[in-house]
Amino acid sequence: MADGNDAAELNLIAASLKRHLERRQRAGIGFLPMSDPAPVKPPMAKTEIQMSAVVDDLSADSADYMGAQTLEELRAAIGDCQRCKLCSGRTHIVFGVGNPNAKLMFVGEGPGRDEDLKGEPFVGRAGQLLTDIITKGMGLKREDVYICNVVKCRPPENRNPESDEVAACEPFLKKQIDLVRPAVIVGLGKFAVQTLLQSTVPISKLRGNWHSYHGIKLMPTFHPAYLLRNPADKKLVWEDIKQVIKELNGENA
Ligand code: URA
Repeated sequence: MADGNDAAELNLIAASLKRHLERRQRAGIGFLPMSDPAPVKPPMAKTEIQMSAVVDDLSADSADYMGAQTLEELRAAIGDCQRCKLCSGRTHIVFGVGNPNAKLMFVGEGPGRDEDLKGEPFVGRAGQLLTDIITKGMGLKREDVYICNVVKCRPPENRNPESDEVAACEPFLKKQIDLVRPAVIVGLGKFAVQTLLQSTVPISKLRGNWHSYHGIKLMPTFHPAYLLRNPADKKLVWEDIKQVIKELNGENA
């Protein structure tokens, strides 16, 4: 028979499971039975409500996104994210797009206006240039690779994401990388590369050389938006991309 501690633990697990199912339901995965409404609790004091929200958030994160086995589950666990202040200005969460088993993954900084409106990364002018690099330069389709950003919501006026915003969103990027497990990551621009490598070295020094992101080969290169302003540096990006092609073709061994 369960003693007092076991019963308390079982209650906690049951409550956590219920919150998990409710979040999945809010995210559109609707299999929570609705015929058994939760018992009405007496109203909580304000501090109790705040504390309970914090505990709920913490357990939500560890229970949901850490346990995600697929990108769909990870996206569902992120839900209607309110974990940082970027949520207030966004139209869509821009999660990521592409082949969940891609050998090649591109990581950018964060959505801009076009991406925010469409809910898909790299669909504006810089995105068109990235698409050209993938299709015309590498001979791949956009659907063959996986594309995402460090932060999933558009920073206002396209400013750089702030450290608290990166801290809130980075675990999702890590989990995306973990789930896709690409052979190669191309880091697009200073912000993505410095975040991935936890470095403050300028992108001009990092680009063109192989780095390791937890054992995955990482090639830093310039951001396509930078290339729109500095087209003369396209040739440097092409050098970097040629190295990536060789690596994917097993020619660097
Ligand atoms: N710039 C980025 O870094 N990411 C996008 O998705 C679009 C532009």
